[in-house]
Amino acid sequence: MLIYPDVALEEGYDFPLSSQFQVAERENGKGKAVYTLTGHARGEMIARFTGPVVPYRTQHTLQLNPNLHVLDLYFVGYFAHSCTPNVFVDMQEFEVWALQDIDPDTALTMDYASTEDELYRQFRCLCGTPGCRHWITGRKERVNGEGLYYLNSLKRESNAQ
Ligand SMILES: [Zn+2]
Repeated sequence: MLIYPDVALEEGYDFPLSSQFQVAERENGKGKAVYTLTGHARGEMIARFTGPVVPYRTQHTLQLNPNLHVLDLYFVGYFAHSCTPNVFVDMQEFEVWALQDIDPDTALTMDYASTEDELYRQFRCLCGTPGCRHWITGRKERVNGEGLYYLNSLKRESNAQ
């Protein structure tokens, strides 16, 4: 069955199936994420996505251009952020590609700054990867006051050690 409830879409166009992906709560109250149930090989086109195009951002939109955003509440709109992501979301082709080998039952992660000029809301990153930026913004915006305070507090902590 397609993950999208929209009956107008047909199977066989690489749209995600509910036997392949599941939207589920993450541990530690981090919110929902999309898990692959089957796993993927690096370089694989994982799935195509779709959704209504809206003229505003939400926490679950992906930027098509500075004025238009895709609101996909069944698949890419719930991808978690990582500073070392395992997928890339191609907003020209509406395709999701594996950047690494991905084991079954792994959350799909993307870098939000790869698609967004500005985020709906900047946030603290706890992805834990070596390249973690610790505070996530869109690619065209500055770290806000809360972010500067947080990043400075991390610096003070590491200096104190
Ligand atoms: Zn991070």
